[in-house]
Amino acid sequence: MPRSNPWPLPPNPTNFTIVNRIEIIPTPPPPIAYDVIVEAGALAELPRLLAETAPGHHYLIISDNNVASVLGGELRSRLEGAGYRVSLLTFEPGEASKNVANWAALMEAMVAQGAGRDSVVIALGGGVTGDLAGFVAATYLRGVPLVQIPTSLLAMLDSSVGGKTGIDLEAGKNLVGAFHSPRLVVADPLVLRTLPAQELRAGLAEAVKHGAIADRAYFDWIAERATNLLAGNPDDLARLVHRSVEIKAQFAAADPFETGPRKALNYGHTIGHAVEALSNYTIPHGYAVAIGMVAEARLGERTGITESGTETALVSVLHALGLPVEIPAEIEPTRIVEVARRDKKARAARTRYTMIARIGEVARTGAGEWSHGFDESTVVETLALSIGQIMV
Ligand code: NAD
Repeated sequence: MPRSNPWPLPPNPTNFTIVNRIEIIPTPPPPIAYDVIVEAGALAELPRLLAETAPGHHYLIISDNNVASVLGGELRSRLEGAGYRVSLLTFEPGEASKNVANWAALMEAMVAQGAGRDSVVIALGGGVTGDLAGFVAATYLRGVPLVQIPTSLLAMLDSSVGGKTGIDLEAGKNLVGAFHSPRLVVADPLVLRTLPAQELRAGLAEAVKHGAIADRAYFDWIAERATNLLAGNPDDLARLVHRSVEIKAQFAAADPFETGPRKALNYGHTIGHAVEALSNYTIPHGYAVAIGMVAEARLGERTGITESGTETALVSVLHALGLPVEIPAEIEPTRIVEVARRDKKARAARTRYTMIARIGEVARTGAGEWSHGFDESTVVETLALSIGQIMV
């Protein structure tokens, strides 16, 4: 039986003679499925895992200089020892590297290394590497396979899963990008031993977010295990990554292109991104998200969307993890609202915020939407209040 075209041609809107109209009837895309392996020592098995999930003739490891010096050489030797052809491409660490110039330089380096369609990109590093190398993989020859080997906590429990890749522009973060799912994610908590303490805490903030939007028991567990987690206990970190990946994957799988439920993952991010940008990126992303979650809980409590006491619960766990909770005094609430307005999450000029009803549950609007719009004056007034000072 002929299939009906889900995208019928629109009527001719002009008086021009149409020389050719192109009608493409899309076939349904195959389901995207990939394994996320979370296990201490998993990297020792990488040659076998690659052969099973991402076979290729040439593996291009992309890494920042920090991670390349700690892990790049070892990984390269392990793969070469198993008979693989390997290249290691590096760039300067830091968010400022997630830019058009580095993307172009890496693409040129891929050509210079003779990478073809049978090549596989391995993103070895934190979220900056995952996003940048992922975008290289998404765009090189219109897309080559990608394997994510996250090495920061944030990358393990957040950025390596879900298929979002991208780079920043002068005008803002993540303004250019593509959805490009990896073939495999290997999160080996043993690599976190060399991660600086500040980066560990930044990752823990995203784990708190996962608890806040989806799982009260997980949220409470993080609070109980705060000391162990900060000390880098590998068992607790493995358990944390495992549960966070489950939560992230659940939202990402329900909504791969972020039109609905996946917006839950933006909790804390509307204000967080603005605070991060207004600090000129001196406040790390995870720290800014911690501040954003608290401020957005206060906004929710003040507008009757969020259960009373939520802000206090967040402040308590974030304090235990050594994370900031207050917007720095030098950042004006009006500036935050201005920057948030330019955020990708704005719609019809109204800034959108993900809200929680209580710890463990996202609040949807009466119309079932996953994000809420507020009058800017309400947001400015709320941001001007201190923690615990919720006046209706
Ligand atoms: P990052 O990649 O800059 O890593 C932080 C620092 O830790 C870097 O200096 C890095 O060299 C170092 N590092 C990483 N692993 C290490 C290790 N094992 N040992 C020693 N040093 C190590 O930053 P990040 O916090 O991992 O990621 C932030 C980025 O992730 C942002 O650009 C953000 O936009 C992006 N992000 C993307 C998504 C997504 O879905 N794609 C989600 C959340 C965040």
